[in-house]
Amino acid sequence: MSYVDEVLERVVAKNPAEPEFHQAVKEVLESLRPVIEANEERYRKEALLERLVEPDRQFKFRVPWVDDKGQVQVNTGYRVQFNNSIGPYKGGLRLHPSVNLGIIKFLGFEQIFKNSLTGLPIGGGKGGSDFDPKGKSDREVMAFCQSFMTELCKYIGADTDVPAGDIGTGAREIGDMFGQYKRIKGLYEGVLTGKGLTYGGSLVRTEATGYGLLYLTEEMLKCNGHDIAGKTIVVSGSGNVAIYAIEKAQQMGAKVVTCSDSNGWVYDPEGIDLAALKEIKEVKRARLTEYKNYRPNSEYHEGRGVWTVKCDVALPCATQNELFLEDAQALVANGCIAVAEGANMPTTMDATEYLQKNGILFAPGKAANAGGVATSALEMSQNSERLSWSFEEVDSKLKGIMVNIFHNLDDAAKRYGKAGDYVAGANIAGFEKVAEAMLAQGVA
Ligand code: NDP
Repeated sequence: MSYVDEVLERVVAKNPAEPEFHQAVKEVLESLRPVIEANEERYRKEALLERLVEPDRQFKFRVPWVDDKGQVQVNTGYRVQFNNSIGPYKGGLRLHPSVNLGIIKFLGFEQIFKNSLTGLPIGGGKGGSDFDPKGKSDREVMAFCQSFMTELCKYIGADTDVPAGDIGTGAREIGDMFGQYKRIKGLYEGVLTGKGLTYGGSLVRTEATGYGLLYLTEEMLKCNGHDIAGKTIVVSGSGNVAIYAIEKAQQMGAKVVTCSDSNGWVYDPEGIDLAALKEIKEVKRARLTEYKNYRPNSEYHEGRGVWTVKCDVALPCATQNELFLEDAQALVANGCIAVAEGANMPTTMDATEYLQKNGILFAPGKAANAGGVATSALEMSQNSERLSWSFEEVDSKLKGIMVNIFHNLDDAAKRYGKAGDYVAGANIAGFEKVAEAMLAQGVA
């Protein structure tokens, strides 16, 4: 049996009931086959893959808090510190009822390669809780965040592990958590990123993932002979990533005609009204059903359906496993030329393969959505310097990083005879740096 197959089997056997983690490891290791086969003897002897798929450590803890009725609630908190061979652990905190250890591990594993791809010195980690901020009062969110940080603060630090936002963790939650960290530790340090601008946050962090997605997509299209201006784009999600992807796409002259939330989706043939979307989602924290009040000519549909709309480019920006094989078939049938993942692992493996086989340019999330973590690393640099850079300075660094990521994965794919396979390219480019650093640091 090949080394890759042995390790895949072992991952499933050792981590039962973690299907998302199996899926992420399989996706990465499958595309690393040519690199691993070229170095099989050495990697086997060093147990490199066995070490790579086993987190450095993982924490699971109780998060008790009191709701507005005086009732004590109990959630479960997680932090998985996956790999710090190229820098302190870095990765977001997801607050969503679906969170479990397998999901945090899949995200932490992907984060290792994504962070490596940015070219910045950051390792891979991820955390979160099954707490659902939706429908909770500000006081309840604060009570949860303070309790969560009371435990988490034992494991993190500016030079150890620097969490950030993710689904359900925005500026409000980061503020509550930072306040509690400072109180307990008595330290004013860049222990979290995604902070508010008055207390160490970076300009462009809010926009970074969505903007970065478009910078990379623009470069991918350009290198394949297409111009993003004038293209019709479908976007899923209506959270942080989706909103700023829509904003940058519009600035680049493209027309975005859809967005969605977990209840339904909007089709606006004249192009999404971004001001209306921001008011609904960022100010009112309401549902997309409201969009029709702003744009009577738009359509609202319950359930899923974004991928059935005719488009040139598709940007899944909601969550994992939201673009299935039948969606990929609809996109191809409708003449779509490119898919770039704003979310983490939104496209299932069979859908990805179908898109690639049918000549669609496909940019995987670990490259395409790396703008968020890259800008987080820029926030860490600013915190260490105790300086704040201008919007233009951060934005231009972000653009440079995203363009560079695209060329790194394009080159890596070509080096292994897989030109145009950006999934393989991203995994190979991300892996090579981490593998070299791990091997240089002895058996650890
Ligand atoms: P948000 O919480 O701001 O938004 C998530 C969006 O996805 C919401 O519109 C939400 O709808 C929708 N959504 C969530 N779960 C589902 C579901 N099961 N089915 C359909 N829609 C769903 O999160 P972000 O925008 O920050 O993150 C989106 C994705 O991007 C995630 O995969 C995240 O890991 C990834 N990502 C985020 C980064 C960042 O900087 N924010 C960086 C890199 C990746 P509803 O409001 O109804 O829940």
